[in-house]
Amino acid sequence: MELRRFGPLDIDVPTIGLGTWQMERSDREAVIHTIRRAIDRGVAHIDTAEIYGQGAVEEIVGEAIAGYRAEVFLATKVHPDHGTYAGTLLACEKSLRRLRTDRLDLYLLHWRGAQPLEEAIRGLATLKKDGKIRAWGVSNFDVTDLEEAIAIAGEGEIACNQVLYNLGERDVEHVLQAFCERRRIALVAYSPLGSGQFPPAGSWRGDVLAGIAAAHGVSSKAVALRFLARRPGSFVIPKTARADHLDEIANASDFILTPEEIATIDDAFPLGPPKSKMPYV
Ligand code: NAP
Repeated sequence: MELRRFGPLDIDVPTIGLGTWQMERSDREAVIHTIRRAIDRGVAHIDTAEIYGQGAVEEIVGEAIAGYRAEVFLATKVHPDHGTYAGTLLACEKSLRRLRTDRLDLYLLHWRGAQPLEEAIRGLATLKKDGKIRAWGVSNFDVTDLEEAIAIAGEGEIACNQVLYNLGERDVEHVLQAFCERRRIALVAYSPLGSGQFPPAGSWRGDVLAGIAAAHGVSSKAVALRFLARRPGSFVIPKTARADHLDEIANASDFILTPEEIATIDDAFPLGPPKSKMPYV
């Protein structure tokens, strides 16, 4: 599995990670098998959140990674309603318990809510100082939000910004991606497979991906992930509950797109004009 330096951290993290949203809806044993297979294949950045299944997904992840904790880069998120100083500390304790661990690798503010940003950042800084989390970051932040967060926390404190980024939604490429690169903030692409809205086989866009996939002996999904992770500061966290799909996802680490292939994908899935408001799921 390809590893990359993760923002300002002094560690390398798998380029291809595993999302877990809605995993509570699938067969529990199958999901646990898939998460363990992901760890085996090096898809070991596992992303979850306290709100996924109202804690149920963290519990599933906790069961799946028990005995493999050292091999996992474990990320979870605090809901912004808990984004007060005390709320952040308490939410983290609850997540740690559900995840059966004493330390997170990454703790994210899920999105910017009504609480003052200073509060959550103070909580996150305390958790880091106390060794409960290795690093913290944010999600769904635009450039203005990030500038504000950096002004509060200081340079080099925000490890990542997790944002909506897939072939049909490339808005982050206008400004946000370069901003994150300049500030050494990892850009983590969520819903990188379009959250179920992937160009179907037989459609002209689907066929563009299939043609490139065939040339590399991988699936169209792997081609999409490789495209989204083509810049060195970017990571992807596709979700799958299925072991066969996981293998397709893991294969995205094994090949490089040529400049011509990148241009072909770029043409088929155009960037489009910048949006006035940051897109999110
Ligand atoms: P996604 O990863 O773009 O797509 C997931 C869908 O693709 C699922 O329906 C999955 O079904 C299917 N799939 C995956 N691999 C496949 C394959 N090889 N062949 C066919 N289908 C495949 O969607 P997402 O779950 O929205 O986003 C990924 C992760 O990002 C989430 O799980 C979550 O961890 C994170 N996220 C974060 C935020 C945020 O606000 N920060 C928001 C949304 C998501 P199967 O399970 O059946 O394979």
